[in-house]
Amino acid sequence: MSNRQTETDVILIGAGIMSATLGTLLKELVPNWNIKVFEKLASAGEESSNEWNNAGTGHAALCELNYTTEKADGSIDINKAVNVNEQFQVSMQFWSYLVKSNLIRNPHDFIMPLPHISLVHGEKDVAFLKKRYDTMIGNPLFQGMEFSSDPKKLEEWIPLIMKDRKTNEPIAATKMEAGTDVNFGALTRMLFGHLKNKNVDIKFKHSVEDIKRNSNGSWELKVRNGSGQVERHTAKFVFVGGGGGSLPLLQKSGIPEGKHIGGFPISGLFMVCNNPEVIAKHHAKVYGKAKVGAPPMSVPHLDTRFIDNKKSLLFGPFAGFSPKFLKTGSMFDLIGSVKPNNVLTMLAAGAKNMSLTKYLIQQVMLSKEKRMEELREFIPDAKSEDWDLLVSGQRVQVIKDTKAGGKGTLQFGTEVVSASDGSIAALLGASPGASTAVPVMLEVIEKCFPEHLNNWKPKLKEMIPSYGMSLMKNPDLIRQIHTSTARTLGLNNGELQSSIK
Ligand SMILES: Cc1cc2nc3c(=O)[nH]c(=O)nc-3n(C[C@H](O)[C@H](O)[C@H](O)COP(=O)(O)OP(=O)(O)OC[C@H]3O[C@@H](n4cnc5c(N)ncnc54)[C@H](O)[C@@H]3O)c2cc1C
Repeated sequence: MSNRQTETDVILIGAGIMSATLGTLLKELVPNWNIKVFEKLASAGEESSNEWNNAGTGHAALCELNYTTEKADGSIDINKAVNVNEQFQVSMQFWSYLVKSNLIRNPHDFIMPLPHISLVHGEKDVAFLKKRYDTMIGNPLFQGMEFSSDPKKLEEWIPLIMKDRKTNEPIAATKMEAGTDVNFGALTRMLFGHLKNKNVDIKFKHSVEDIKRNSNGSWELKVRNGSGQVERHTAKFVFVGGGGGSLPLLQKSGIPEGKHIGGFPISGLFMVCNNPEVIAKHHAKVYGKAKVGAPPMSVPHLDTRFIDNKKSLLFGPFAGFSPKFLKTGSMFDLIGSVKPNNVLTMLAAGAKNMSLTKYLIQQVMLSKEKRMEELREFIPDAKSEDWDLLVSGQRVQVIKDTKAGGKGTLQFGTEVVSASDGSIAALLGASPGASTAVPVMLEVIEKCFPEHLNNWKPKLKEMIPSYGMSLMKNPDLIRQIHTSTARTLGLNNGELQSSIK
């Protein structure tokens, strides 16, 4: 029995970084719209956006080797890296706007400067890294990148990794001082705090169970509240920001755009260091190369993190298989997402990705000692007792039929799926993830509110000065933006807060 009914302009499902970002953008653009949020957990940012459930890398393609590929002619394709970097600059500009407008008080509560380093071993990979560096340094987005294959220089950059390294193999690294560590959990909570102050109605412990279209084009949500009662809430526009939980909700909406899509969950695990002396010896995010057959999101990396005003050290992620779509999800999520309209797509994906499934199952079975062996490729003298295992978030990769990959192709990016009339949109996939929350939510706005865009453009330009422009083609604008975002977000060297232990 329904005991409550409401009507509103906008409903956001899920209190992760995506809904937080969309809600904040909309409140700046149209302060008088009513917004409601339904979150099944007890607080904001508890699933993938939580600081312990992701790696906190501000993905700007400064160190992630999987964003650049070697072409058949030996040249390096940096298009994806350029795209990821441009997207991150959009997020940085919006976060700067939030700080300048006092919507966020202290930027170091969510973002810290941290060098981003790519590290490779062996002649072939060292040659690749050098070629990659030569290509990237010519692009205005990657100015400041340094390359070195000199072990003495590398000892300065990454002393913990170089100590006791006993191999004669060539080794090389690139370094970008301008990298960041982002606490997406803290940012999510700050944005929801701000939305609450702006009278957004945020309902925790409210799980959305169904979405149906009304005859007038609006959407009715069936929501189970914390007391187990069913409520009905109607909105003109719904954003499905349920993270891994978005696909089942999109399927319930019945929109044709949501058909023939499946999801494949990949879980993440990190090793977390418990020895303050070891933590103090490292200060960077160091990304290596993914093992052959490993999915791109399992590129190993050793990361300094800043969480709760404290430095931490994490290594991973180790991938794993679990049929759950959310960390707090159900063992029936995967099977429940197989529908008549996507069964062939899912079966094709299953057949195509047997080796990936095998790889993930092997990863789940790894003993702590086996994981330590992988860590020792980074820190040769790592001691088992200094490291604990941490279960982090679930990512649901999109499976769909594509021209290039055929039926049941596994996608590693993020996809906005929206109804043709723009009344509902869902975000699927999780890579590059939270770092691109701002450009991805701008995509939602552009797809779903085209009739308002002209009026909203001046405000969008105020919040994101490069809105609608390619930064790569405007080197002067890049310089201006780098300088002003670094100053506002406190990312210049020497500005680190003394409170960080
Ligand atoms: C291991 C790992 C490492 C990662 N590393 C990085 C990184 O270094 N950098 C980066 O930028 N990104 C990273 N990501 C990706 C990033 O964490 C995600 O892209 C991002 O957090 C997704 O945000 P979201 O708001 O879409 O989802 P979430 O944060 O998962 O939020 C979704 C919310 O919706 C709620 N919900 C779901 N279903 C319902 C329902 N039916 N009713 C009500 N509420 C519901 C959930 O409880 C949850 O709170 C990583 C992810 C993982 C798993």
